[in-house]
Formats: sequence, structure tokens, C-alpha cells
Amino acid sequence: MSIALPSKLAAPAATWAREVDVVVLGSGASGLAAALAMRPDRSVLVVTKDVLAAGSTAWAQGGLAAVLDPADSVEDHVRDTLEAGAGLCDEEAVRTLATEAPMAIRRLIELGAMFDPDGTGDMALTREGGHSHRRIVHAGGDQSGAEVQRTLDTAAVAAGVEILEHAFALDLVTGRNGVGRRQAAGVRVALLDEHGATTSVGVVHARAVVLATGGYGQVFASTSNPPAVTGDGLALAMRAGLAARDVEFVQFHPSVLWVGPDSRGQQALVSEAVRGEGALLFDGLGRRVMEGVHPLEDLAPRDVVAAAISRRMAEAPGGIGDHVFLDATHLGEEFYERFPSITASCRAIGIDPARDRIPVAPAAHYVCGGIPADLDGVTEMPGLYAIGEVACTGVHGANRLASNSVTEGVVAGTRLGTALAADLAEVVVSGSDAGRSFDGPLRNPAQRVEMRSVMSSHVGVARTPRGLDAAVRQLGVLASTSSIGVTGSRASWEATNMLTVAAAVATAAQTRTESRGCHRRDDQPTPRDAWLTHLDVRLTIDGAVAVTGIPHV
Ligand SMILES: Cc1cc2nc3c(=O)[nH]c(=O)nc-3n(C[C@H](O)[C@H](O)[C@H](O)COP(=O)(O)OP(=O)(O)OC[C@H]3O[C@@H](n4cnc5c(N)ncnc54)[C@H](O)[C@@H]3O)c2cc1C
Repeated sequence: MSIALPSKLAAPAATWAREVDVVVLGSGASGLAAALAMRPDRSVLVVTKDVLAAGSTAWAQGGLAAVLDPADSVEDHVRDTLEAGAGLCDEEAVRTLATEAPMAIRRLIELGAMFDPDGTGDMALTREGGHSHRRIVHAGGDQSGAEVQRTLDTAAVAAGVEILEHAFALDLVTGRNGVGRRQAAGVRVALLDEHGATTSVGVVHARAVVLATGGYGQVFASTSNPPAVTGDGLALAMRAGLAARDVEFVQFHPSVLWVGPDSRGQQALVSEAVRGEGALLFDGLGRRVMEGVHPLEDLAPRDVVAAAISRRMAEAPGGIGDHVFLDATHLGEEFYERFPSITASCRAIGIDPARDRIPVAPAAHYVCGGIPADLDGVTEMPGLYAIGEVACTGVHGANRLASNSVTEGVVAGTRLGTALAADLAEVVVSGSDAGRSFDGPLRNPAQRVEMRSVMSSHVGVARTPRGLDAAVRQLGVLASTSSIGVTGSRASWEATNMLTVAAAVATAAQTRTESRGCHRRDDQPTPRDAWLTHLDVRLTIDGAVAVTGIPHV
């Protein structure tokens, strides 16, 4: 792609410095689990660009997957996860996740999490798409993530984790270690006022930097992700020379609440758990959407359901081409108690889910790709760790199994935190580049609208070669548009990060000429064996994106 993306985010000069053992970027499930597990052995600073609960974690509705029913087994959890991952999972990582998931749930309970009980006083377990057993624990009906976030927020503060809110991580500070290898040595951070303007810039020096900045759903116009999820950590890692792996695998949730033709930004999720409780999808003519499409029908894996809805919408049955309907009326008023948040979102647009069918449409929801790392967060750069949705650990492969991600964040965060508590190398880093000049230019925040629209139109559920070519071209045009006068602020840094990530996603999707997991192309509708491989996208020295790992087909 002919595009020029910056290798540093332009910002005012640093006027302060801090030193800690470990700096954690992001305060969702993964970041806080890691920070907690390091206490009291290490001094930990959590840098988070908004308030603590601004990431995706607080929005998780369905719950956390773990084998807790004696009739279930780790092997079944592994098998279901591998099946959803369509050949690109790392089986060892999946097995570690499935084995340690029950411990992660118990740990959250010890910290004070209140998961919903069933009628007998045991934990209630529900089932979601692609799971062969009931194994999803939930809280407050559909407020599972909020309960996890509340629990970790309280526990982190109580454990003496230092938290810096409204603090934007810009770029990594690196140096050379004793054997001459480039090593993470800290991070450049901008403190923000309540409008996102910069009040000061400083450098946090640390022996380990943990990226826990979440995914990049906001790169799409139609998304369930909250505004903070703009791919900052992935863009930061790419600027530091790391790869973005498997970023074309974006999971589109089949059902966010459709609120009208002009809806933009974060849209309310209508959890898969609603279909888990027997709700069915219908088109504008009242015909079932999932009948005959997959043996699990409405509980088929997400990509299958999202693609079936997209196909049906393209036919515009009954003249309705931008949404379908979810019928949960069999639950009657029980719906209100089981799904209070969804009830509130429906009521806000005049829908009574106990009596009316709910209008829904697919939207970007979860990203399987990210910074290559193992389940201990170890990346290709010494001193730099990645956990949670920003990481690509091989747990999700080409498609995530529902409710595996909050669990992954807690498992990986706890593993990394425990490892860093036990062993944090005394590294002598020389030649730090904290004071290097900046490469800009920053993107104008006004470009976000067009960028996100390009991504949703051409890099969405159903991809075509023409659409992908157009996306790559249009993103290139956006990157070369003059942005004279744009200064450093949360909005311009996010816009710049989003364009970097969008360019990587569109290029990877254009390169992968097959359909697999949640990457679907109409010119190559099936998986191809030669593509049982990972694609890495990196920034070149002149700010272009380059893909490696392309098979000879
Ligand atoms: C509506 C919705 C429902 C979901 N439901 C489920 C579910 O039921 N089960 C499930 O397993 N998963 C679910 N998911 C996915 C799941 O919530 C996420 O994958 C998971 O919570 C990610 O956790 P995380 O810690 O990696 O990132 P997040 O929770 O997204 O946290 C990222 C953090 O990084 C901070 N940050 C970002 N950029 C910067 C920066 N530049 N500087 C400083 N800080 C920064 C953010 O402010 C935030 O604190 C859902 C997601 C959404 C959006």
C-alpha cells in the first residue's frame, strides 16, 4: 500500500518522568488482573486513557467461559474453541486457557465477584453459540463484564496498584540491553484534561511494559465497542517495529440493536445469551434466518450467523435490507429480569422485548488478531508484554468462541503478573530514545467518519476483492491528505492510530485470498489449505504497511 504512517506520534516535549517496576497500559480485565497479580512484590503503575471502566470489559454481557459443570470437560472446551478457530488456533494455548479458566473464575469470586446463582445455589451456567455445554458464568443477568470490572477496580486499589486515569500512552521508549537487543524501557504518556486536550507529557521508565489496551472495533462505523477501543496499543507496537498478526479476523457480532439507518459509533449489544435462551432470528418477511443454514441453527458460531444475516439483508426481504428481527417473546416478562441492560436499550427505542421482535444487525465486535504473544504475554521484544484483546495468542485462531475473551484476559493477566512478580530482570538499558524527534503528521480527527465508513462498507462481514481494493486505496488517500495545523490531542492520536490499524486490517484482508473463520470473501468462499498460516503486517521504515507470511498459491 502506498501510504505514509508516522513512526512516532507528535506531542509536546516531556516535562516530567516517573520510575516504576512495571507500567501497565489499559485498565480492563487483562491489565488489572496483571497489575493485581504483581502486588505486593512490584511497584505497578496502570496508565489508562479515560476512566478505569472505559474499555470493552465493562460492556461484556454474556459472561465468562469455564468448565464448571461435572458433565463438561476441558477437552470439550478445547474442541469447541479449536472448531471455532478454523485451523489457526495454537492448541497448547487453548488447552492452557481451558485448564486455567475455572481457577480464574474462582479467583474473581475470592476477590468479591458475585456471579448469578441457579435455583439450587450453585453458579448458573448458560450456553452460547459454538459451545457444546452450558459453561458461561454471568452476573447481574447481562452485566457480567461490569461485575468483573467492578471487582478488579476495587481489588486493584486495595492492593496498592497506582492508577493514572486520563493518561494516554503515546509511544514506547526503547533502548539496547546488555546483549545489544532492542528492549522496552518505558512509555511516553500524555496527561489529558476532561476534553482530551494535553496538559503535559512525561516519560514513565519501567523494567517491563505491559500492553493491555484492548482491540480496535472503533475502526468500524458499526460496532459494539465503546469509544475508547481505537487500537492504540496495536498501533504503538507497530510503530515500535512489532508485527500485527491475523488482524483480518474481525468478529462481527450477529446482533447489535438496530436503532435506525443513521446509527453510528457504539451500538447496544443484544447478547448471544438471548439466543441461548431460545430466541430465534426472522427476516423482514417473517421467515427464519438460520433454519437449514447450520446444524446448530440460531446457536451456530458467530461468523455463520453474521454471514447468514448479511446475506438475508442483501436480499432485502419485505423491503428491509439493513436489519433482521430477534424474537424472544417466548420469555415474556422473564426477559426483563434476565436481560436488564438489553431491556433498557430496547425500551429507549420503543421496543418491548417481552412482546415485540427486536430489530438487530451485525457489527464489529471482537478482534482475533493483534500483537503476537504467548499466554504469558511474552512478545518478540524483550521487556514488552501483550495480554487480552490487543494480543494474538493463538487462543482464538480465525474466530473466537463466545465468552472466551474475558476469561483469556484474566488468565493471561494473572499468568503474566505472577511471572513478573517472581522474576523481573535487572536490565541495564542504554541509548534510550525517549527524546527522539517526532515523525508526525497526525491525522485530523474529522477523518474518522470517512475512515470508519470505508471499513464498514468494504472490510465488513462480506468482503469482495473490489471492495478491499477500494478500501486500501481510500485509506491511502486519507493518509496522504494534508493535516497541517493538527496538534496532539486524544482525538488526533486516536485518529492516527486508527488509520494505522485500518491500513493493516484492510491490507491483510486483501492479501488473504480465502474465506476462513470470520474472514469471508465472495471470490474465495471456502478455506484453502495453503492458507493455514498467519499473516503479519509491519510498518516499513517509510511508513508503508508490508505483509509477510503469504503462502505460494
Ligand atoms: C458489548 C460487548 C460485549 C462483550 N461480551 C463479552 C462476553 O460476554 N464475554 C467475553 O468473553 N467477551 C465479551 N466481549 C469482549 C470482551 O469484553 C473483551 O475482549 C475484553 O473485555 C477485553 O479486555 P482487555 O482487558 O483486553 O481490554 P479492554 O477491557 O477493552 O480495556 C482496554 C483498556 O485500555 C485502555 N486504553 C486504550 N488505549 C489506551 C492508550 N492509548 N493509553 C492508555 N490506555 C489505553 C482503555 O481505556 C481500557 O482501559 C464483549 C465486548 C463488547 C464490546
